[in-house]
Amino acid sequence: MRLETMTASNISNPEERSLANIALVSTGGTIEMVSDQGRIDIAKQHNPLPVQENVIPPFISVEHTRFCSLPSPAISPGVMADLCLVLENLAACGKYHGIVVTHGTDTLEESAFLADIYLRSTIPVVFTAAMRSQSEMGVDGPRNVKGALLTASNNEVHKLGVTVVLNDEIHSASRVTKTYTSNVSSFKSPGYGPLGFVDQDRILLQRKPMRRIKLPRGKLKLDERVGLIRTAAGLGAREIRYCVDRGDRALVVEALGRGNVPPEAAEAIQYAVEKETIVCITSRCYIGRVLGVYNYPGGGADLERKGAILAGDMQGHKLRLFLMASLGIGLNAENIRKLLERF
Ligand code: ASP
Repeated sequence: MRLETMTASNISNPEERSLANIALVSTGGTIEMVSDQGRIDIAKQHNPLPVQENVIPPFISVEHTRFCSLPSPAISPGVMADLCLVLENLAACGKYHGIVVTHGTDTLEESAFLADIYLRSTIPVVFTAAMRSQSEMGVDGPRNVKGALLTASNNEVHKLGVTVVLNDEIHSASRVTKTYTSNVSSFKSPGYGPLGFVDQDRILLQRKPMRRIKLPRGKLKLDERVGLIRTAAGLGAREIRYCVDRGDRALVVEALGRGNVPPEAAEAIQYAVEKETIVCITSRCYIGRVLGVYNYPGGGADLERKGAILAGDMQGHKLRLFLMASLGIGLNAENIRKLLERF
């Protein structure tokens, strides 16, 4: 990681507001990319961020830290954990009113979620990104960075946990997801909606997330032996057994509907539990909780009897990170079940 002060704002017109010092941590993604004959990649002449004077409001100053410069599919859980430690240090150093992280959109919600469950920051931590590269028409990066800077300078925002700001919407990292491959309105919180909005230079907060998970205090260390299986008609049993036999310590199963799986997959879940692999069930539906209401073989009630843990409406890829971090700090199946009840 390299530390550099990239830009300070024009502070000639601080209005009535006091100057907010924001740490801007860049990690790569389309927000740092340009397009060459229709192919998009990280800019060779590194101009990394759309941080120009008109992006930084006059009452904000920015210090830039380049953490990495990667397309976000290349950001592994290990890199996400390292990023969390950098954010923790920046939040603790006492220099900043808030932190903005720029990130590729593909895995942004995972990095932001891990930061949300790990950090106990008393300053806002805000992730942002761009759906369009710097050379495309209607580029969204500068506006998103501005929205994120405004959000990070707001004194109330840290109470919401880690937030994600794109397209003038402020979302909870715990609920937000990329819903659209290409549209600038891609980031949504299905079933919940945004926490607030950016309206020109104002932040309008609307609601607080009441159900949130925090990891117990401890060293952030991910145990990556966690599998993620999506079920479908007649699918899941072979994949679950494969994960168990390769030594996974925990397994996320994206079940059907209310938390049900094909009967053969239920038998594979029983096999996993017997081998002491922790099995957590979530749904492949994108809105709604799993619950043990169906009693037939493979129904949610049957899976609970077999020892699986039902994980509310946490998305599978976030649940996987939660399990990696939980195992890393030494939690067992019972601790994990209790924590998940809060979500
Ligand atoms: N593929 C890009 C990435 O995640 C997409 C983006 O940043 O919008 O890095």
